Amino acid sequence: MASALSDRLSRIVKEMRGQARITEANVTDMLREVRMALLEADVALPVVRDFIARVKEKALGQEVVGSLTPGQVLVSVVNRELAATMGDGVADINLAAQPPAVILMAGLQGAGKTTTTAKLAKHLIEKRKKKVLTVSGDVYRPAAIEQLKTVTAQAGAEWFPSTPDQKPVDIARAAIDYARKHYFDVLLVDTAGRLAIDEALMREIQELHAVLKPVETLFVVDAMQGQDAINTAKAFSAALPLTGIVLTKLDGDSRGGAALSVRQVTGAPIKFAGVSEKLDGLEVFDAERHAGRILG
Ligand code: GDP
Repeated sequence: MASALSDRLSRIVKEMRGQARITEANVTDMLREVRMALLEADVALPVVRDFIARVKEKALGQEVVGSLTPGQVLVSVVNRELAATMGDGVADINLAAQPPAVILMAGLQGAGKTTTTAKLAKHLIEKRKKKVLTVSGDVYRPAAIEQLKTVTAQAGAEWFPSTPDQKPVDIARAAIDYARKHYFDVLLVDTAGRLAIDEALMREIQELHAVLKPVETLFVVDAMQGQDAINTAKAFSAALPLTGIVLTKLDGDSRGGAALSVRQVTGAPIKFAGVSEKLDGLEVFDAERHAGRILG
């Protein structure tokens, strides 16, 4: 699929070869193709519209200089705007808080929260030399608590026990207390997901947020979710002051258009990309490289 898209963009460049200037007409032609490309990459329609409008405005003001052709200039405007929309250089985790710095993980069930919690624990231990504690607030699925226990051990962090008969906010308080007493730098809080957005879930995570006062509230979203990602992102962003996004499963064959939708809807930076099921499969998000992937 990616190569078909590449063909599309290179065809635009080729078709525009004989044209000396960027005009309303050739910009419009070219943006029709870009629009198709973004829709094929599963970027949500309203986000595509906004993006196209911005690119059009920028492209019409561009001079064509040197050996470049209008087609090449337009493709580079599109690339630059895509990268600029998805990235703003604040990639790493913010730990500027009275220890323990609390990181709250939010997202739908299956998005990759538990896996990402362990990946982050490993990242913070290895790259930032932090002492890390994890805890699960998922009192609905005992298996999820066990899963966090297992992956936390694999990450080399410590796990704080919780049980299904507890209230998530009580677990949160106990975990913070323990982290303080034992001088942990970071407390990672995994939360319950649902298969779809529901109000009880949102209320619960809002309560957790109020108790935990996290320095980072990360929205974990599956890149394969495609068009639906925008609705999930809207709901979580309305409920919580998100500070960052982790886009998971980028090792799959989706073109990752969800990145653009989610970034635009939440305004939060995309901090990391999940690129494998393994705990070392977490990368700092690279907006430029991702722009290339979306366009093919
Ligand atoms: P949660 O319900 O949000 O906690 O999601 P999990 O962490 O349990 O992940 C759901 C599934 O997605 C598991 O099978 C994970 O191994 C898998 N997963 C998570 N992140 C990634 C990723 O970046 N790439 C791949 N390929 N699989 C992932």
